[in-house]
Amino acid sequence: MCVAVVTGASRGIGKEVCRQLGEMGYQVCLTGRNEDVVHKVVEELSSNGSIIYGHQLDVTDSKSICRLRDFIVNQFGRIDVLVNNAGVFLDNETNGKCPSLLEMNVQLLRLTMETNVYGVLNLIQIFFPYMKQANYGRIVNVSSGMGRITSMEMNDLIRRDLRYGPFYRISKASLNILTRIIAAEVNGFNILVNAVCPGWVQTDMGGSDAVRSVEEGAKGVVWAATLPDNHLSGAFFRDGKQLNW
Ligand code: NAP
Repeated sequence: MCVAVVTGASRGIGKEVCRQLGEMGYQVCLTGRNEDVVHKVVEELSSNGSIIYGHQLDVTDSKSICRLRDFIVNQFGRIDVLVNNAGVFLDNETNGKCPSLLEMNVQLLRLTMETNVYGVLNLIQIFFPYMKQANYGRIVNVSSGMGRITSMEMNDLIRRDLRYGPFYRISKASLNILTRIIAAEVNGFNILVNAVCPGWVQTDMGGSDAVRSVEEGAKGVVWAATLPDNHLSGAFFRDGKQLNW
């Protein structure tokens, strides 16, 4: 039975990815920063018979990552799918105004990168040996259209305005580059590494004006997590359709 690890699954898209993978018959390890919350969510998602385990994970904490690795190895001895979903958007607008990159504290960028990029790299590094040994792996990095260089046009729409969320944009563009490089690194081991944009989704991060449900947003992530062998790797997708970077 395939084992999937999902980060940042205490709520939002990550939680829904766990639910969908559980329904598809995966053994899911749902992770989150707060252990109590993780156990509540696991209880909720297991009620339909899905096999969902819970484990604490802060992707910015290397000890926490090692504890998760030990749990996965002892409990299952394998990991087939890694969904790097945990993410933060710390440079949101305040009082309806976008903060300017010229004035923002770089410390906020460091914090953003810790979760959205370095955490992802740490997790991939720690689980890669097990995927390599099994000659199977699917890694999905949950990215954002806001990290697409090709769509960074100047216009008046708040969600598209280039000045909106600059640190978040930088982190997701970095995540996209990381995705391409890792995909090249693992080529030949039947490990597919792709970035997925879930669209603008109604979550704590996306807000209530967002146009997509969590079910819709998670579907494209689950699609990339369950790709057949020989599928495209090192690419960027939304709803299973390839995007340019
Ligand atoms: P969300 O509802 O805010 O959930 C974010 C999740 O990330 C939470 O479970 C949170 O856990 C977790 N998290 C944050 N920092 C973490 C850390 N250091 N270690 C472990 N977990 C951490 O956001 P969402 O909308 O579901 O976003 C999920 C992913 O989709 C993110 O990568 C986001 O960038 C991406 N995305 C979202 C949208 C959208 O419109 N919603 C659009 C494009 C991309 P806690 O409960 O512990 O805070």
